Amino acid sequence: MKGAQRYGCFMEGPQQECKQCGSCCSSGGPALHREDERLVRSGALPLAQLITIRKGEIAHNPLTNSLQPVNQELVKISGVGREWNCCFLDPEEKGCTIYEHRPMACRALQCWDTRAIEELIEKDTLSRLDLIGDNNPLRSSVEEHERLFPCPDMKALLTRGPSDHAAELEDLVNEEIAYRTRVVQSFDLSLGEELFYFGRPLFHLCVAAGAEVVEVEERLIVSWPKGRFGTV
Ligand code: SF4
Ligand code: SF4
Repeated sequence: MKGAQRYGCFMEGPQQECKQCGSCCSSGGPALHREDERLVRSGALPLAQLITIRKGEIAHNPLTNSLQPVNQELVKISGVGREWNCCFLDPEEKGCTIYEHRPMACRALQCWDTRAIEELIEKDTLSRLDLIGDNNPLRSSVEEHERLFPCPDMKALLTRGPSDHAAELEDLVNEEIAYRTRVVQSFDLSLGEELFYFGRPLFHLCVAAGAEVVEVEERLIVSWPKGRFGTV
């Protein structure tokens, strides 16, 4: 160490290494890639700690730094809390509790040089069906659910609301929650497992698009207050 550097870090140059501040783990878990399949198969990443982001759902696109519909289904590590911290982040220590088994995107992330992580975005990502074995009895339910209840056009919902399809969408929201409740009960799925197999319920997506949802006599009532649209 020479000169002024001896007396402190005020002469510090550009960041060259990870300071283990945990910030990058505080904005949602990473998407999984093909290379991460072994981590799921080995149990290092249990299905109950993964969440499916279905094609068309709105997610943060780091390339454009904006909220956009995803072009393909993604499986991500679940988030917790209001800030959506990665569920494997130790908030006290700001450390990763599965450091040796962290996914490829975490290993590639260098906040001071984002070229490697940008290369990975939406490339060779895993989908649910890559992780659900052919013999898994839930496979056909996942396929049927996707066929019956695809993600609605979120961009249209966010910019215009449901237009004249509000009643139709409300029916769909109720049919979907009844469908997933049946499957959840018959397979005794935890909430974490449900979110992996079926992603977020349609009513959640409506809330994310600005709707208000209340339950009245076992039916979800979806209303669309004016003035909440135009965010995408
Ligand atoms: S990569 Fe950057 S943001 Fe992430 S823990 Fe390291 S220093 Fe913090
Ligand atoms: S798996 Fe570990 S390194 Fe990756 S986002 Fe979660 S806490 Fe951070």
